[in-house]
Amino acid sequence: MRLANLAGRAVVVTGDRAVDVEQASDGRFGSDPQALFDDWQAFAEWASAVPDAAAAASIAFEATRLGAPVPRPRQVFAIGLNYAEHAAEAGYPPDEMPVTFTKFPSSIVGPEAVVELPEGNVDWEVELVVVIGREAHRIDREHAWDHVAGLTIGQDLSERVTQLQGSAPQFSLGKSFPGFGPTGPWLVTPDEFADRDDLAISCTLSGEGMQASRTSMMLYDVPELLMRLSAVCPLLPGDIIFSGTPSGIGNRRTPPRFIRPDDVLVSEIEGIGTLTTHFTSAP
Ligand code: ZN
Repeated sequence: MRLANLAGRAVVVTGDRAVDVEQASDGRFGSDPQALFDDWQAFAEWASAVPDAAAAASIAFEATRLGAPVPRPRQVFAIGLNYAEHAAEAGYPPDEMPVTFTKFPSSIVGPEAVVELPEGNVDWEVELVVVIGREAHRIDREHAWDHVAGLTIGQDLSERVTQLQGSAPQFSLGKSFPGFGPTGPWLVTPDEFADRDDLAISCTLSGEGMQASRTSMMLYDVPELLMRLSAVCPLLPGDIIFSGTPSGIGNRRTPPRFIRPDDVLVSEIEGIGTLTTHFTSAP
């Protein structure tokens, strides 16, 4: 099942058409995409039968009207250095704990966002984003996927000057400027993937290939991340986890390449689709 946010309303997507959740469920489920995660099990069951029952009521939609599939997560976790080649290019040895920071929720936007570039060096990081559907606290590996509502694409946009300043770097601030958390285009439930642990992941900047890998190359895979994060923090329904980026960021290219106004960033993950982000200079 594919769940999207169409102009602020939750919709189930089938092909290029959308079924409005509140209308098709006669109000059993509301229109707020974020609220669905509080009753995820019941919603997912209902939604799995929607395409047949409500196909006639579906409407065609424009991708430009999509918002963030998870618009107001209570917690946003982000993982650094989770692919060996990226850890090497960033100059860090592999760690025994996944490097964890946050992107403050005010940075979260949807697909087709136009992001204003702050002063400094803005870089790209395509990432698989995991959405929590059932509270997870001190869970084991084996049951981790049971707590996942679905997967989507994310860009962990990063302003490197802010991020790397000081003796204890400012990861969370440097990655939380407005619009620095593009996500989407929709959430895809884990059952939709042939192999949810091994998905092609890539991004291009204005047509030039920058990153390409597979999620099976993660040092800490999705179950391991959920196990280790939930050993400390309860993961709440509607929380999201940016799971780290493969190699190929701009900061480590020769010469370095950072995002410029009028660049277009296209991020892709197998089985989910593409997430497009536009940029503009500060006024
Ligand atoms: Zn990242």
